[in-house]
Amino acid sequence: MLFQSRYNTLDSKLYSQQQPKPLHGAKAGHFNLTLANDLQWSDAEKTAWVDICSGKQTFDVFSPLAMVYAGHQFGHWAGQLGDGRGLLIAQVLDKNNQVIDLHLKGAGSTPYSRSGDGRAVLRSVIREYLAGHALNALGIASSNAVGFTSSLQGVQRETLEPGAMLLRTSDCHIRFGHFEWINQYAPELLNDFVMQCIAWHSPECLEQDQPIIAFAHAVVKRTAQMIADWQAVGFAHGVMNTDNLNITGSTLDFGPFGFLERFKPDWINNHSDHQGRYCYQNQPRMAHWNLSILLNNLMPLAPSTQKEAFKQQLIACLADFEVTFLKYYQEKMCLKMGLPQFHKDSFDCALHFLHILQREQLDYTQSFIRLQEQQFTALKDDCIDRDGFDAFITCYQNIRTHQDQAQLNERMQQHNPRYILRNQMAQQAIERAECDDFSEVERLFDLLATPFTPQPQREHASDVQPPHADASETAISCSS
Ligand code: AMP
Ligand code: MG
Repeated sequence: MLFQSRYNTLDSKLYSQQQPKPLHGAKAGHFNLTLANDLQWSDAEKTAWVDICSGKQTFDVFSPLAMVYAGHQFGHWAGQLGDGRGLLIAQVLDKNNQVIDLHLKGAGSTPYSRSGDGRAVLRSVIREYLAGHALNALGIASSNAVGFTSSLQGVQRETLEPGAMLLRTSDCHIRFGHFEWINQYAPELLNDFVMQCIAWHSPECLEQDQPIIAFAHAVVKRTAQMIADWQAVGFAHGVMNTDNLNITGSTLDFGPFGFLERFKPDWINNHSDHQGRYCYQNQPRMAHWNLSILLNNLMPLAPSTQKEAFKQQLIACLADFEVTFLKYYQEKMCLKMGLPQFHKDSFDCALHFLHILQREQLDYTQSFIRLQEQQFTALKDDCIDRDGFDAFITCYQNIRTHQDQAQLNERMQQHNPRYILRNQMAQQAIERAECDDFSEVERLFDLLATPFTPQPQREHASDVQPPHADASETAISCSS
């Protein structure tokens, strides 16, 4: 690995050095060799992956550390949080010369563990491992993981579960909550911290007249783009608290996430989210809310002579959110539909399709595949309102008639995944892994690596269909 340590150059108030506490009887779960190669792991490091991914081996050049941050959870100020069960164990250069954090999740308690045990269970580690991999393969900015290990040591949740560790990778672990912590507990650090964030994560802003305002615009835009990607693919993060969103707009901290199956905009995958604050359709609004908290925390940096102007400029950044989100979301939806973006009726036609999916409770992912394959009769057969479906198809074909259909079809194929990580798929892999059989993790890992490509030899029927309409949903709790 080519180490590029930098977080440890920040003021020491911002982290605590902490060694991982290995679990007893660590054993291999799964290793992402492609990612290890991208991260320029040597052969020796690849051979030692189980030790690295279980906290037994750390690196002399970097003392593992837990970051401190704060956050708003479910809309309420939660005070100091921090890495309670994860450690930054290295920062390395990938093959594109980008700095990537290696973060070991489940590595034991830290000064920020509060009442937690610092551990992660195999169930949540597998869900995070597969989801990060799936989003990366879908081209959506997200953390990923080099590998995970399971162990003989039990971890108590509602029941005793196998403990596990995940070696997560991300271009950034600096969360909106970092800025909240600094303002609350060490405001004297704010200016230097923000300037360092800009240098690391938005260096192009340093060339602007007002780097901080330019940085704020960049974070708003990147977040809006990530949310548009989530909405288009049907991903619901589940816990969009300010401590779970980072400044590069890449998906972080998978917990009770889910991929939408039957199209229900108010779908809540997180069974602990009783109000539905983070349901699928609320995600753009919640991202906007979180960004307003972040921007508020940049306010103290206003130059004393231009306080009001600076404030107005920060407020203006928020307006970027809706514009950027809609631009990307409309673009994605037109691509998924196989409709030209320039046509004035294309997006309305996409919304018309979504309305049918909602009314008829159809599977989001497979309905787009059917549209792509022009299986109109099969789609119609699943509808109760068939006249309504005919009206949609007439409008859809009218828009496509005079277009370059071959090109539109090709783009559809690049934007409609066949395979997403359905809760039940993850559940099957977890149940097998809890009996020490990681073959289903492996199968799903391979399937989700090329989600746009049909893989008839690898796929199971349940990968491409939603649970029966009256089957009870897999309950996903916050405990992990
Ligand atoms: P999350 O909702 O998973 O993003 O976690 C919120 C906060 O709780 C973060 O600061 C986590 O580090 C911390 N946390 C979650 N689970 C544990 C655990 N088992 N032990 C210690 N800290 C935890
Ligand atoms: Mg978190």
